[in-house]
Amino acid sequence: MKLEIPTNIFEQMVAQAKALAPIEACGILAGKDNKAEKLFEMTNADNRSDHFMMEPKEQFTVVKNIRSADLEMLAIYHSHPETPARPSAEDIRLALTPDVIYVIVSLQDAKAPAVKGLLIEDGTVTEVPVKIMERQNE
Ligand SMILES: [Zn+2]
Repeated sequence: MKLEIPTNIFEQMVAQAKALAPIEACGILAGKDNKAEKLFEMTNADNRSDHFMMEPKEQFTVVKNIRSADLEMLAIYHSHPETPARPSAEDIRLALTPDVIYVIVSLQDAKAPAVKGLLIEDGTVTEVPVKIMERQNE
């Protein structure tokens, strides 16, 4: 299993993370066959620098939009404005959405934002390779 993220979507995540820092940014990646095609920026209802919580109503609407576009919810991402792309104890405890890859974007090195994909199930964390893809011409 892996997650492919086109460059423009990766750049959008980083831009959102930078704009919100020091508050954590969060959102959802939708696509097919583990390839992200669409990014949905979400509100961090907690508005904190060490934690995020997606706004439930907003999440409901986005999930509906993803289904009607015939896509899947592939990943839930959030930023770590000042810490590495490692899941916190809270991240692991609150990773309750099944079959979704948790993506963390770290701005610890602002010049070289790091990204990590994780499967988190019952407190067990498995890393999922994340590949940033060049834009494709179709
Ligand atoms: Zn986190």
